[in-house]
Amino acid sequence: MLLREILEANRDFVQKLEREIEEREIGKLPAKKLAIFSCMDTRLVEMLEPALGLKRGEAKVIKNAGTVVTDDVIRSLAVAIYLLGVEEVMVIAHLDCGVAQPDAGAMRQRMLARGVDPQVLESMELKSWLKGFGPDYYRHVREVVDELLDNPLLPKDIPYHGLLFCPDTGHLELVVNGYEQG
Ligand code: ZN
Repeated sequence: MLLREILEANRDFVQKLEREIEEREIGKLPAKKLAIFSCMDTRLVEMLEPALGLKRGEAKVIKNAGTVVTDDVIRSLAVAIYLLGVEEVMVIAHLDCGVAQPDAGAMRQRMLARGVDPQVLESMELKSWLKGFGPDYYRHVREVVDELLDNPLLPKDIPYHGLLFCPDTGHLELVVNGYEQG
């Protein structure tokens, strides 16, 4: 049972961490004043932060399916910037993303088969709700950065960078240098 496995792993983890916490204090404000917006891809777990040289306590990390801008991404970035001291944002999409071109038809069929009310599905535009971005990852990164820059709730006086991450090699490629904008 996965739940039991995870709870047991957590018990061991907490015992080990209790000893470490006595040695150093980690706060909830990001030490590097950085927020990262990336994808929920499983290959980025234990991969993205070490590939960037980031440690616990140094950055806010916001993730969703596909690194696509939604209301909650704006909300999380706004909280990070206005309340938690973030002064720099990095959009980090990744190659081989499972949400690049999501199959809205398959999604609809599976939702119906699992008991989602057909009327609810009819009342929404599933394809735009799913928000794929097509085959051009560079364009995707640039568009996400532009969406953040254009959003009326976010400030214009901090840099928004755009980068592309390879989940296999760990290589990070600069697409938009936020220091050169505006
Ligand atoms: Zn992805």
